Amino acid sequence: MANTCAICGATINVLQSQKLMDGNYICTKGCRAKGLKYYDYVHSDLDNVKDHIHQTEVGTKVWQDLMEPLKKTRDKNQKMQAFRPIYIAPSLGLIAVIEARGGLFNTKTYACVFRLENLQLYRTERMPARTSGSDKDKMCVHLGFVHTKGLNDVYIPFDSETDCHQCVDYLNKLFGLDDSFRSGIKKSVTQFKATKSMWDLAKAKKNGENLEEKAKATVDAFGATIIGDRTQFKDAADQALAGYDLD
Ligand SMILES: [Zn+2]
Repeated sequence: MANTCAICGATINVLQSQKLMDGNYICTKGCRAKGLKYYDYVHSDLDNVKDHIHQTEVGTKVWQDLMEPLKKTRDKNQKMQAFRPIYIAPSLGLIAVIEARGGLFNTKTYACVFRLENLQLYRTERMPARTSGSDKDKMCVHLGFVHTKGLNDVYIPFDSETDCHQCVDYLNKLFGLDDSFRSGIKKSVTQFKATKSMWDLAKAKKNGENLEEKAKATVDAFGATIIGDRTQFKDAADQALAGYDLD
């Protein structure tokens, strides 16, 4: 039985078909190959797949134009940090996940490029063998981006556990957060949650005053402390991406 690719309209057999969560099919060779292997097609609908393809098209261009040239830079301020396949360019306010395909002499690199300001979650995680496609559990870096369409929850498996930790440590330093600082903050947050629930109680009793808003402002203030100050990265990314149609 033949299917039809919901993106390019090609007639495809079962082996050439990728089924999406919403029941649509896309062709593996033409359309699925326009995105990265890190993207979870099985749990995505057609709109999100289209967003991801667009994200990869523009990301690949941004990578070629702005990021790849930084590999060779001698300027310390422009230096790009590599935890292959993750590349971090603080001077541009950008972080890329790349995928190189092809042989030695005809490699084509595809990339998704994200704003560092949107990186809300980054941590090391153990990826079970069945998910990573290898025969044993692998360590991975889990990246989660807010305000980002397409690929925004990414698991990157690493062969070396050390590389995984180095990547996360680097990001902590970049955002001005080291481990001791983080655990300190965790304690304050726990204390604060208790305070907030007291406020909620007070709100139920008193109706006139907007205590909820007051509590929210304080939560936001704590949030800024936990994720670090991202202003400089936002400004850099705004400038770098000015000519590109990326979130
Ligand atoms: Zn197609």
